[in-house]
Amino acid sequence: MFDLRSDTVTRPTGAMLKAMMSAPTGDDVYGEDPTVNRLQDTLAERFGHEAGLFCPSGTMANQIAINVHVAPGDEVMCHRLSHVYNYEGGGIARNSGASVRLLEAPGGAMPAAVIRSEVNPADSHFARTGLVCVEDTVNKGGGAVQSLETLKEGSTVCNELGLPFHLDGARAWNALRNTGADWTAYGRMFDSVSLCLSKGLGTPAGSVLLGSKAFIDEAHRSRKVMGGGMRQVGILAAAGLHAMDHHFDRLQEDHDRASRIGELLADHPAVDHVDQVETNIVIASLAGGRPASDLVEAQRAQGILCSAFGPHKVRWVTHLDFGDEGLKHVLAALADWR
Ligand SMILES: *Cc1c(COP(=O)(O)O)cnc(C)c1O
Repeated sequence: MFDLRSDTVTRPTGAMLKAMMSAPTGDDVYGEDPTVNRLQDTLAERFGHEAGLFCPSGTMANQIAINVHVAPGDEVMCHRLSHVYNYEGGGIARNSGASVRLLEAPGGAMPAAVIRSEVNPADSHFARTGLVCVEDTVNKGGGAVQSLETLKEGSTVCNELGLPFHLDGARAWNALRNTGADWTAYGRMFDSVSLCLSKGLGTPAGSVLLGSKAFIDEAHRSRKVMGGGMRQVGILAAAGLHAMDHHFDRLQEDHDRASRIGELLADHPAVDHVDQVETNIVIASLAGGRPASDLVEAQRAQGILCSAFGPHKVRWVTHLDFGDEGLKHVLAALADWR
């Protein structure tokens, strides 16, 4: 089976397992796991932040960030497509007692003018706007990469309004690979950043939350409350350090393979349109109101797993365990499908 449901299905490579097996470890709840500390410090430094916190998942890293930034009753501003709103189980309300203000703009972007116009006035009738949360790349937006200029303007307007600006950077690696932006300058646009190690980079688990020393101190408490404190997780942190060194550059391969799939689908008679492929996600909308399950099942019969991503939309995600042999097979199967 070629599994293209997500880039989370990858297995650790032999070299990654070796790095994990030889990692020095300690009790991370005491802050004594040297490999976790090295990962947190390395990422904080590379992204221009003071400190980092290893978390079990991207969801928890985002939810902790929201929890630290806002007070109950506040409003979190995010895009209608955002993961924090759509795919985190209503956690903004459940974990932090906050409500949500959804923005609309093409491609999951959060332009400064839209942010400014949606901030509530300082009037007791309204919820206090407590946080602006942006996502890069935009998962539900087909892996769309945010424009650096728009992010910069968003950062400036948040600064001016005294609002924290959080990046859900679960897929920021793909964005950085695409734009070639400097990691430090990129990271400094945000008050906090969450980064997933288990998506494009291909580790078994883990995310890192970055921010100021004071923010990370509070995040530590929030992680404890959510039950996310773990012990000898240097084995996972070692996978992350290995992946940063060995799996970042190769993301271009994933992007190239996704783009080949996107090109074939764009010309396919049974496909209405394909969202622009900028990274490793391909989303195609079927023509003539055909259900997504038609194609998902046809692909499955050919040994390919992809996902229904809406009534007429199908999604493929390329990754570390999908190579040229797989690509050839997928392209042939799609070309034959009618
Ligand atoms: C996958 C993902 C997350 C959540 O990560 P998990 O590790 O699955 O909890 C958050 N944001 C975005 C944009 C993602 O793609």
